[in-house]
Amino acid sequence: VSRFEGVTMAPPDPILGVSEAFRADDSDVKLNLGVGAYRTEELQTAEKLMLEKGENKEYLPIEGLAAFNKVTAQLLFGADNPVIQQGRVVTVQSLSGTGSLRLAAAFIQRFFPDAKVLISSPTWGNHKNIFNDSRVPWSEYRYYDPRTVGLDFEGMIEDIKAAPDGSFILLHGCAHNPTGIDPTAEQWEKIADLIEEKNHIPFFDVAYQGFASGSLDVDASSVRTFVARGLELFVAQSYSKNLGLYAERIGAINVVCSSQDAATRVKSQLKRLARPMYSNPPVHGARIVANVVGDPTLFGEWKQEMEAMSGRIKNVRQRLFDNLSKQDQSGKDWSFILKQIGMFSYTGLNKAQSDNMTNKWHVYMTKDGRISLAGLSLSKCEYLSDAIIDSFC
Ligand code: PMP
Repeated sequence: VSRFEGVTMAPPDPILGVSEAFRADDSDVKLNLGVGAYRTEELQTAEKLMLEKGENKEYLPIEGLAAFNKVTAQLLFGADNPVIQQGRVVTVQSLSGTGSLRLAAAFIQRFFPDAKVLISSPTWGNHKNIFNDSRVPWSEYRYYDPRTVGLDFEGMIEDIKAAPDGSFILLHGCAHNPTGIDPTAEQWEKIADLIEEKNHIPFFDVAYQGFASGSLDVDASSVRTFVARGLELFVAQSYSKNLGLYAERIGAINVVCSSQDAATRVKSQLKRLARPMYSNPPVHGARIVANVVGDPTLFGEWKQEMEAMSGRIKNVRQRLFDNLSKQDQSGKDWSFILKQIGMFSYTGLNKAQSDNMTNKWHVYMTKDGRISLAGLSLSKCEYLSDAIIDSFC
């Protein structure tokens, strides 16, 4: 008898499990719209340059590569933001967006043991896992309104208002995953008003900076709105999507503090948490980021690539909307597809309808009705809209 009898089978991951099912399907019309991964190879030049230089593989400090941390804060907050000049920003390189969220969660658990985190309903599925495993209590605020396939702004405000003062409010900086629905600039201001009034702590998850609108600055404007008010806040930042560095696990946790002294102390404790977890972060992706941002030519190329990526997704959205509007006879309003941003679109399909998409049409997607437009080409839009219309009816 095994000592592991008490270890039950863990369920497959709701997102990464879709790719497994996709691989097992041998239909030639199959489409994988499950995982959010853009399919091109970027920044060969930066990487080749580094390999030629033969950079070493010695340990980084616990807080990561200094040049990487510096440019990360600059991209996020804007290079001339007073919080940077005043030394009030802590940036600790961590294991991409996920690891940065996890490190911040460990920090919350240690220093704010009575606080809870509010997450949007729905949200990226891993948020719940991260806070559960960190033993940080969480609850949800309303976000998605199925009637409009849009933002339930009033519900969101009510729930943030009802949370105990000093709660952490997890916000998607841009391109909300899984819905693709972001607050408007005006709504962000109202959210910030309320968070300030309630003494809550904003906690941004920024996984798509530059990828959503094509502009690094536009996609960081939500975060900068809050920073401009002088609020203390957290930002978990990832380079998986915008630099295509998925497997390098490159990102950072950033904390804006109200004084330089607080920032110094926060940094010391983040390092203390990271040391027994993973000791120090990987160097390769950090060097790519630092080299790309630090070199005017490469930086320019990167910005162009982000414009191209976000532009391609916008074109796919438009084509899908056109096809749905043309092919559907029911008079349904499909404009939500155009209003959404980023690589994901919430279609409003329920679980049974999403199952129909996969079982009948070989379209692989998550069961919450989310499709990744990054996996779609213009020529497949007609097929997809047939599948969507059939599944809705
Ligand atoms: N947050 C959100 C909202 C995401 O969509 C993702 C990627 N799917 C992440 C964080 C983290 O990704 P990574 O760990 O690869 O940076």
